Amino acid sequence: MLIAGNWKMNGDPSSMDEFGRMIARAPEATARGVDLIVCPPAILIAKFVDRATVSKIGIGGQDCHAEPKGAHTGDISAEMLAACGATAVIVGHSERRTDHGETDEMVGKKALAAQRAGLTAIVCVGETEAERDAGEAEAVVGRQLAGSLPEGLDPARLVVAYEPVWAIGTGRTPSLDDIAAMHAFIRATLTARFPETPVQILYGGSVKPSNAAEILAVENVDGALVGGASLKADDYLGIALAA
Ligand code: PEP
Repeated sequence: MLIAGNWKMNGDPSSMDEFGRMIARAPEATARGVDLIVCPPAILIAKFVDRATVSKIGIGGQDCHAEPKGAHTGDISAEMLAACGATAVIVGHSERRTDHGETDEMVGKKALAAQRAGLTAIVCVGETEAERDAGEAEAVVGRQLAGSLPEGLDPARLVVAYEPVWAIGTGRTPSLDDIAAMHAFIRATLTARFPETPVQILYGGSVKPSNAAEILAVENVDGALVGGASLKADDYLGIALAA
């Protein structure tokens, strides 16, 4: 099980206290075999890495540029994340796809860049509510998987996060049957693509301590990508301990 926390655009140096509480409680989860990764905003990555060396919490980025360096104002490369001690990076989050117009092709290039730098690529896919209502959820996710996972990706350093867009930050989640069906579909797609190496599949979208146990017990759910509830140590660890 992997419980990855996505802090999004939340946090500043005063957040070190909350992160300190996560570090203090992390061994409760890691002792049970649950891996933890926290992805703070870029300005905090190096600080978190410094603190995390005494714990078992991995630190990740929330996005990376496809190029290793150059004239790309405001961007951060996978190599820069790795040099700061990050071990993973989220790519293709629906908020990046929407806010920054990221296409599957761009996401695929970022995933390759992440692995080029030695990071685990956490690739996000998921349908909108309109697409689900139209019965197109699997077709959309299938297209995103085909487009966002280019040739050359190493499945051993790949995690796929299924995040229905309409469940992110809304307090709504799909039924357990719908989560099971989509994860089975993603599993079959990934197994056909990478028959030798199982790829971890996370569920993301309004996971909290009160629903984590039932969601994490669904077949083919290998963990969670957690947004809002990853900001507080008690909630984040509550989810991890439900795994
Ligand atoms: C996310 O942003 O990846 C996410 C799952 O957010 P939340 O848990 O807040 O729905």
